[in-house]
Amino acid sequence: MYFRNYESLRKSVLLVAAAVLLVGGMFFLFDSRVPGFIAVILLLAGWEFERSRCSRAMYKIIYVDELTGLPNMEEMEVVIEDKIKREEAFFLAIFDIKNFKIINDLWGYEKGDRHLKFVGDTLKQFSDVFEFACRCENDNFAVILQNSSIAMGMDELHTLFDEIGYLPDNVNYHVRYSCGLVRHEGNYENAHAMFDCAKIAKSIAKQDTQNRIIVYDEKTKAEMIRRQTLKDNLLAGLDNDEFLVYLQPKYNLEDDSLAGAEALIRWNYKNERFLPPGEFVPVFEEDGSIGLVDQFVLAKVSEKFEEWQEMGYPLLPISVNVSRVQLTNRNLVKDIASAVSARKVPFEYIDLELTESAAFDDMNYLLKTMDDIKRVGFRLSMDDFGTGYYSLGLLQKMPLDILKLDKSFVDGYTDEGCEKERLMISDIINMAHHLGITVLAEGVETKLQRDMLKEAGCEIVQGYYYSKPIPIADYEKLLQQQVQENVG
Ligand code: C2E
Ligand code: MG
Ligand code: MG
Repeated sequence: MYFRNYESLRKSVLLVAAAVLLVGGMFFLFDSRVPGFIAVILLLAGWEFERSRCSRAMYKIIYVDELTGLPNMEEMEVVIEDKIKREEAFFLAIFDIKNFKIINDLWGYEKGDRHLKFVGDTLKQFSDVFEFACRCENDNFAVILQNSSIAMGMDELHTLFDEIGYLPDNVNYHVRYSCGLVRHEGNYENAHAMFDCAKIAKSIAKQDTQNRIIVYDEKTKAEMIRRQTLKDNLLAGLDNDEFLVYLQPKYNLEDDSLAGAEALIRWNYKNERFLPPGEFVPVFEEDGSIGLVDQFVLAKVSEKFEEWQEMGYPLLPISVNVSRVQLTNRNLVKDIASAVSARKVPFEYIDLELTESAAFDDMNYLLKTMDDIKRVGFRLSMDDFGTGYYSLGLLQKMPLDILKLDKSFVDGYTDEGCEKERLMISDIINMAHHLGITVLAEGVETKLQRDMLKEAGCEIVQGYYYSKPIPIADYEKLLQQQVQENVG
């Protein structure tokens, strides 16, 4: 595109120059000097006009972003280099849209483009706030702030993110941003170095589902290197059997019998040290590669189920976590179903845990995915209930089997005097029961908590009071015990 336009401009400049020479030459040849001079002057003026029109067009091609009409990255670089040369202090912020892929995937590129244009138009309205703004590429934008303090700059950026925090034709869809901020005080040699550091900070800001601005410093750089190293080692880790599935048993409160387990991933990183999921799951959620981990867990659990059936062990449901970023995968239910059916496992023994999360805003799509999960026969649990923003009305529409009450509720019940905490838990349990949903309490660590939950009508518990997550072989011992008890 760029070269095509450039060529046509070059041709038109050459054409005008040739016409000038030709007409001027003819007048001189026929010895008609005065009109000849006038013609040449007119043609020169025309040429100059055409040349400046061309250079304006050329400027647009080189320095203006076609979709938004904002300056582009090249122009931003020129501005930054100039400021560095003049030894000015300033901030550079670059930001992008969290889960922009979701917007494109769900509603198409046209809607995505409309949002980018909306961001561009809003940035133009902020021209008195930001000294300079540009679209770098795709959904990446950059602004220069002239502020004296980080706090002021952050305030201005948050005001901008609030203004562009929804889709122009769907105000119910929340759009959030990841932003990296760097300050130049004579510490950067060129624009590229500033951009690199701002990008590092921005990539850390992606961990969060809310609007997030990260200021670049050495700690940020180290964190970025850590994350990148994990990403670089994921495939090798899967190939080398470094990933292990642990199972945390769940118990029925009515009689303390085993009610199944939750599958939780562990990474024996390079066979050197054990990494808990908190250290790598959010990293793989950034680029969607968590799907590989979830598929691995599902395949392992299905494989084990097949073995257990053959061994005559009691079949108790195992729950598997489905990362929220997988919810946009249109083939999610099909992929899960084919992984499980490869092992001839009855679907009702696989319980899929979805996290209550504020990041996924298209509730109709979420409800449809949940319905599909139930339709093909899996169980469905809502994980970490109470940490997100689901309303009662929404819960009513969800085809849930189990509501997993988040650990933070149970944590609050430290002694018998915690009446408010007890009432809150009891109300949630009653509400779930009204909706026909079973309640499981996570993170139960004491007998006191267990007894209170039983009293409040909670059916299932999971927590260190009963058992930590254990290797599969240890869980199999619990299944064997059940067989022996049944025989006995
Ligand atoms: P989660 O799904 O809510 O899992 C429960 C977490 O609470 C587990 O942490 C478990 O070890 C911990 N836990 C259970 N009972 C207690 C207790 O009594 N006290 C305390 N302090 N902790 C308890 P874990 O294994 O570190 O997993 C953390 C989170 O990582 C999980 O939270 C889940 O969101 C994610 N995760 C784990 N495995 C997978 C996976 O295979 N795929 C995906 N997408 N996410 C996973
Ligand atoms: Mg879970
Ligand atoms: Mg949980």
